[in-house]
Amino acid sequence: MALKGLDIFKLSPKKNCKECGSPTCMAFSMKVAQGTVSIDACPYFSEDAKTAMREAAAPPMKTIKVGTGDQQYVLGGETVLFRHEKTFVNKTRYAVALCSSMDDAVIEEKLAAIEKVDYDRIGERMFVEMVYVNYDPKSGAVKYMELVKKAAGLNRVLILGVEDPEVARTALDLCKDSKPILNGANASNYEEMNAVAAGAGVALGVSGENDSELYDTLAALEKLGNKNLLFNANTDSIKAAYATTVQYRRAAIKDNDRTCGYPSIVNVAKLARGDNHLQAALLAAFTMKYGSILVADHLDYAEALPLYGIRQNVFTDPQKPMKVEPGIYPINGGDENAICLTTVDFALTYFVVSGELERSGVPCNLIVNDAGGLSVLTSWAAGKFSSSSIAKFFEEQDIAGKIKCRKLCIPGKVAALKGELEAKMPDWEIIVAPKEAVQLVKFLKDMQ
Ligand code: SF4
Repeated sequence: MALKGLDIFKLSPKKNCKECGSPTCMAFSMKVAQGTVSIDACPYFSEDAKTAMREAAAPPMKTIKVGTGDQQYVLGGETVLFRHEKTFVNKTRYAVALCSSMDDAVIEEKLAAIEKVDYDRIGERMFVEMVYVNYDPKSGAVKYMELVKKAAGLNRVLILGVEDPEVARTALDLCKDSKPILNGANASNYEEMNAVAAGAGVALGVSGENDSELYDTLAALEKLGNKNLLFNANTDSIKAAYATTVQYRRAAIKDNDRTCGYPSIVNVAKLARGDNHLQAALLAAFTMKYGSILVADHLDYAEALPLYGIRQNVFTDPQKPMKVEPGIYPINGGDENAICLTTVDFALTYFVVSGELERSGVPCNLIVNDAGGLSVLTSWAAGKFSSSSIAKFFEEQDIAGKIKCRKLCIPGKVAALKGELEAKMPDWEIIVAPKEAVQLVKFLKDMQ
């Protein structure tokens, strides 16, 4: 929540010395509140006052980073309850659960299955980003360490589900450089677990018998100086889990209760109790209702496709069209002599069309027009994908100077533009392509 000028003035040195360029501390405070001047322009604000101001101005929900390199993920940091209010910023991540109580064959099977889900959709890689490695004391620490090593080989962020501080310390010695999450603090062990997590520099997951105990444990860890935390939703029932995620998010954002403002872990595998259909439904529900990390028993391709589609929709900014850069996209090694096809810059259109063109194997150039990120028919209706705009775009981009081939295919849905384009671009042979992208493969092969 942004600080008001008066709040800043209360923390100011009140010397009115003018060294900051403002006539008084009050005037300076007003400028800082408006964001036109940095607080650092005054040399007399104490570090404590600056820290207090930074904390007061920080979003109510904490941002936590886990993992490293290309496997680093940002969790939390949300500022609204509903996507349509502004946007959600840090998407839900998915984990598949392993446990040291499982047979080796089952573990191998699950590890292999995790790697199978890996594909691109609208420029985003869809895969299982995390692996939950649960410790079963009955199978012993040695087997757990073997499992941690195996899971680390997948190059995904590990979540170590372990409540024994000694076992946690040994497991972290094996993988702490990859910044896993240590998920095992509770009301009885939080001090020791805090020391282990802080020593390894990793985020700590916190659980409670109920939401009040969870809150008290989070508050106790904050008092110990640890704000690199996540909380676990109650897994007694679906209703209880939903209550934790929704009430904590509401308390953080609406009531500015920062102790509730941490990313959440929802163990959907526990809630679904082996029911695959229920797991699929819960993964979708908790993607929308505030799960930062969702732990599944498994995630195959058929389950991943709709789930990642939902996530992509929920975590895109509704105020920004999903666009690709306008320009020439050579496909299948298309050079200056390759046939041209044109379409709009709506990301979904681009990825569907380019995917089909790639599938055809025919060298070609896809020329993406600046159509404001709208689909073919919408941009045509809005006058952003018309014969004039296409002709203008070709001129501005000097397409004729870059490509020698003079065959241009237009989307079948705007076949009405053919005559106008022939009049405006007389050097080009205008060809009407099929209405559906899936028909492009046959269309291009037949043209060859
Ligand atoms: S430099 Fe600091 S103390 Fe001096 S007038 Fe500006 S805000 Fe006040």
